[in-house]
Amino acid sequence: MRIILPNPRGFCAGVRMAIDVVDQVLRLFPDRAIYVYHEIVHNRHVVERFRGQGVRFVERIADIPEGSVVVFSAHGIPPSVREEAERRNLTSIDATCPLVTKVHSEASRSAGKGYQILLVGHADHQEIIGTRGEAPDDTIVVESADQVPTLEVRDEDRLTYLTQTTLSTDDAAKVVRALRERFPNIREPSSSTICYATTNRQHAVRQIAPEVDLTLVVGSRNSSNSVRLTEIAESAGSPAYLIDDASEIDDAWLPRGSESAVLVTAGASAPEDLVAEVCRTLLSRHGGQLEHWDVIDEDVEFALPGALRRIIKARPDMELPDSIVIGAEQIDPDRYGAVPLTVSARSEPPTTI
Ligand code: SF4
Repeated sequence: MRIILPNPRGFCAGVRMAIDVVDQVLRLFPDRAIYVYHEIVHNRHVVERFRGQGVRFVERIADIPEGSVVVFSAHGIPPSVREEAERRNLTSIDATCPLVTKVHSEASRSAGKGYQILLVGHADHQEIIGTRGEAPDDTIVVESADQVPTLEVRDEDRLTYLTQTTLSTDDAAKVVRALRERFPNIREPSSSTICYATTNRQHAVRQIAPEVDLTLVVGSRNSSNSVRLTEIAESAGSPAYLIDDASEIDDAWLPRGSESAVLVTAGASAPEDLVAEVCRTLLSRHGGQLEHWDVIDEDVEFALPGALRRIIKARPDMELPDSIVIGAEQIDPDRYGAVPLTVSARSEPPTTI
């Protein structure tokens, strides 16, 4: 069996930054209860690791005792949550991904100029709740192209659209096409609001899935971008399963024969250790070879949020960590179970929106 690992896969710069924020907050305040508003990133293993270190996850600011430390998750928050945290005198550290913050800024700027925002995404996703909160009276959430014909808008000439950062680029393109057809004067956002990490991981899956007999996506069920990768692999013709870790692999899924191939990828919030464990498990149970398909190099980095940097700088006993740089993981045979064959599969994602 051939096991194909794409580059890129797994952690994006925003997820790494958010995880590093909680690690730094634990280091800075070892004697205080640390609260995180919503799951810091949508991954069960990451959340369980922090729970094991005493972090408490809450869905309501009202559940946090006054004067505590709170971290806002990578998905972003509506301004009302920030204001409530201020009223409760909480020390707030915002781990919102800068690419989500960019969408918030665009939403509030557009509303300030009198535009109504058609926000393409999943209404119950934390990111959409946060972005909508920037201009609740000026925003309509659009979940699918089917909704477009019946949308009731204020003024067809003062409309713009934005998207959730983790949508399928194909699905988002369908909705945006429907919006442009119905509202020819709709204003385009300054750039695509589907993020680089989502676009690149989906592109790698679209390229490789047609070549394989099975796709395994490592990620949690509530991770939007992981679910999208599974759907994209299926629509490219590969049976696909979303698994939290190697313990969920069902041998009945696995193709037989020495020419069979399995694509193993991961959503942007899934730790690489889990991917390595999946490779080790497949190789130890079924043998085979590991291939590393190099599609797109990423070198995005995000600094820690300003509020946290200021707290660290004010503490003479603490060092400011370096920025978190994203690059391809080195595949170590002890960790992954084999030395990989590297295959160059370089290509750029097409612009769909
Ligand atoms: S998936 Fe994209 S928007 Fe979400 S945290 Fe990662 S880089 Fe940021």
